[in-house]
Amino acid sequence: MTSTDVHSPARLVVDLRAIRDNVAELARRAAGARLLAVVKGDAYGHGLVPTARAALAGGATWLGTAQLAESLALRAAGIDVPVISWLHGPGADFVRALEADVDLGVSAPWALAEIEAAAVATGRVARLHVKIDTGLARNGAFGPSPDGSLGADARSLLEAAADAEQRGTVRVVGLMSHFVESDEPGSPTIRAQQDVFERADAYASGLGLGLQVRHMANSAATLTVPDSHYDLVRPGLAIYGLSPVPQVAGPAEYGLRPAMTFVADVANVKSVPAGQGVSYGHTYVTPRATRLALLPVGYADGVPRHASGSGPVLVGGLRTRLAGRVCMDQVVVDIGPPGEGAATVESGDPAVLFGDGSDGGPTAQDWADAAGTISYEIVTRMSGRLPRVYLGADEVGMTGQTTDSTTRTTTRTAGGADR
Ligand SMILES: *Cc1c(COP(=O)(O)O)cnc(C)c1O
Repeated sequence: MTSTDVHSPARLVVDLRAIRDNVAELARRAAGARLLAVVKGDAYGHGLVPTARAALAGGATWLGTAQLAESLALRAAGIDVPVISWLHGPGADFVRALEADVDLGVSAPWALAEIEAAAVATGRVARLHVKIDTGLARNGAFGPSPDGSLGADARSLLEAAADAEQRGTVRVVGLMSHFVESDEPGSPTIRAQQDVFERADAYASGLGLGLQVRHMANSAATLTVPDSHYDLVRPGLAIYGLSPVPQVAGPAEYGLRPAMTFVADVANVKSVPAGQGVSYGHTYVTPRATRLALLPVGYADGVPRHASGSGPVLVGGLRTRLAGRVCMDQVVVDIGPPGEGAATVESGDPAVLFGDGSDGGPTAQDWADAAGTISYEIVTRMSGRLPRVYLGADEVGMTGQTTDSTTRTTTRTAGGADR
């Protein structure tokens, strides 16, 4: 820990070797395409810069974020591979984007106009990826059309981009889109969206645009829709070792390993009688005389309150569930009567809320199931007040790097313990 850090009773341990190896496995599965590691949302809560370095060590050759600030943070850390940012609002700092050599996804005419103005102001040529909405009806120029041609919005954005390229302000290097439900294998939307995408690609080449990269595949498509890989795949969730299709297969079946472990040190153990209500509202009542362990983490750390009474925990070899409600800073687990359950647990012992599951402990997917959400949200919502402790930093080329700008971080050398 850096000198300004105080001891924290809970932490996220991120194994950078897992991220590196997951990326290598995904790159192997997408051989023939290049791999862009999606590191938006502070790398899904894992820490932007350490994750980016681990992904590059695993063979990623591109990085991507939704927001420009995160792409600029990658550049500020000295990362010089191609980086793309694809979600902007009017007034975005495109001048800084061009000065930092960040590629830009473009979804609307206003963005093209602002990027051209920034290109003129800086004397630089903007590298653009035209984003086509192939049916998600979210970001991108709308491409579907009832008669099976390419929709007017998509055509006019491509035409405007081609005109800008003629003026010398931009270079259209990419065409991109995003799937509706590539996580539902067999969904007819998958082929329908690819048809729109391929129509846009043909339209672009008819306009004389020399695209370098066509890209559409997120984690689920990278794993389950090989003909959607095109020139570049854009996995996010899978690089963190989580399955985008948990109803089909878990991470291990895809050769992936969860990188994040959430550890809290037991803050107190107490004995209580049968019939004792626990935590706000007394929604859990002890069925017998037992011991309660207090864990110093709550919804301020990102523990979902929706998982009150159901969120799983591994402590002292016992797999148990939260007893009662999640509070802002604390949760309680019932560890059984003396001599039973987690018999030897005492204050200071580690409890694992989620990890890679290899020891029979819970995973982020288990928390997602408990809270009625997806594993994406579980890891991404972990708050900035939990320090990130990195394992394997030296093995992914991060030796000596101990902090990043978005979260408190610590690096540990290989083989470090969880606490
Ligand atoms: C988040 C995102 C991805 C990665 O999605 P995963 O399902 O996490 O693999 C890819 N492309 C775009 C445009 C995204 O916003």
